[in-house]
Amino acid sequence: MDFALTKSQKEIRKAAREFAKGEFNKDLALEPGKKHEFPRKIWKKAADLGFIGVHYSEEYSGQGLGVVENTIIADEFCARDSTIGGAIVFSSYASECILRFGSEELKQKFLPSVAEGQMLSTGAFTEPGHGSDITSLDTSAVRDGDEWVLNGTKTFVTNGGMADFYCTICQTDTECQPSERGISLILVEADRKGLCMMSTAEISYKDVRVPTSNLIGKEGRGLYQVLAFFDEIRILVAAQALGTGQGAFNRALAYVKEREQFGRKIAQFQVTQHKLSEMATKVELARLITYKAAWNFDQGRIDPKLTSMAKMYASRMAVEVADEAIQLLGGYGYMTEYEVERFYRDAKITEIYAEPKEIQKDTIARAVIGKIK
Ligand SMILES: Cc1cc2nc3c(=O)[nH]c(=O)nc-3n(C[C@H](O)[C@H](O)[C@H](O)COP(=O)(O)OP(=O)(O)OC[C@H]3O[C@@H](n4cnc5c(N)ncnc54)[C@H](O)[C@@H]3O)c2cc1C
Repeated sequence: MDFALTKSQKEIRKAAREFAKGEFNKDLALEPGKKHEFPRKIWKKAADLGFIGVHYSEEYSGQGLGVVENTIIADEFCARDSTIGGAIVFSSYASECILRFGSEELKQKFLPSVAEGQMLSTGAFTEPGHGSDITSLDTSAVRDGDEWVLNGTKTFVTNGGMADFYCTICQTDTECQPSERGISLILVEADRKGLCMMSTAEISYKDVRVPTSNLIGKEGRGLYQVLAFFDEIRILVAAQALGTGQGAFNRALAYVKEREQFGRKIAQFQVTQHKLSEMATKVELARLITYKAAWNFDQGRIDPKLTSMAKMYASRMAVEVADEAIQLLGGYGYMTEYEVERFYRDAKITEIYAEPKEIQKDTIARAVIGKIK
């Protein structure tokens, strides 16, 4: 058994750490939130240095690497800054649906642009009436000659309004029972007529026409493809959470070694030391399970139980560690300038998106309990 990163993985970690240290700063992190803008300059630089789409093969402008390398980058970026890190890591969100299931034509057309920082991608799965349960959908696509015609509304779409294309799940067969077998995944370019951004994250489709060749994978297999995509993306969300927890821990540690109360550094109180011990242990455990899940995926093994455990544990860790970090900074922890309150907010979303933690627990329970006779 070998828990060490390879030489080239260590180099990627060093490069990601140095890039984030040199480029990310808290003023920049607050800007996108205020202006609802994507940090385009830094995203472009990250892409130029090869940090986007490392898991694509070289013919699609990737580096032919795996989910472990993607995890290293997400871990380092989010530890430096949970907000900017998250934005860059998910600039290629859902492009894996094309990578794993798309036609050669779709791969050639879209993946290189994502890896090169020319296109932002995203997945439009959630609807106002269908969040955790996407086994039946209100968004529909009807075939008309050599086109699909889409109607419906998606919500909470990452990069919504800014993305260049939306991997959209929709009902292509409304009569099908069970309904999930009538769901397909269709790529919709942002400039298609009828596609409307109602707010930063809500997208409506009004008679949006796309060619039938925009179907990703097989008709009627959309839900299963998205579930397979979740098996991969849970690992990346776990990595995001891991970095976020690590970043909150780093800030708290630096603070308690400086701040004095009652004539001593706060780090000299045993209570503080025990808190730091617990926080560091949780971060380490999250790191172990996240990297194990990434490594397992790269071995070609799909294990929804393990990826669910990684996401569930790492996201809980991030929330708990960020919470304790705020506590250790006292009133300053609540102030924007000290960042840990932002890390807390960024930690919390990892327990909600790419399925809420309750759904992960269902998946884990199904695997450990098995059939009950
Ligand atoms: C910042 C952000 C970014 C997002 N990005 C995207 C994106 O890019 N694309 C996209 O499609 N969606 C995205 N989402 C949506 C996200 O995936 C959904 O919010 C999530 O799936 C939950 O759906 P919901 O909010 O409708 O909650 P609901 O499904 O209504 O669930 C609410 C709560 O009910 C509980 N619950 C639900 N079902 C069960 C169950 N079976 N058992 C036990 N408890 C349950 C859970 O506690 C859950 O948190 C994003 C959301 C946010 C906030």
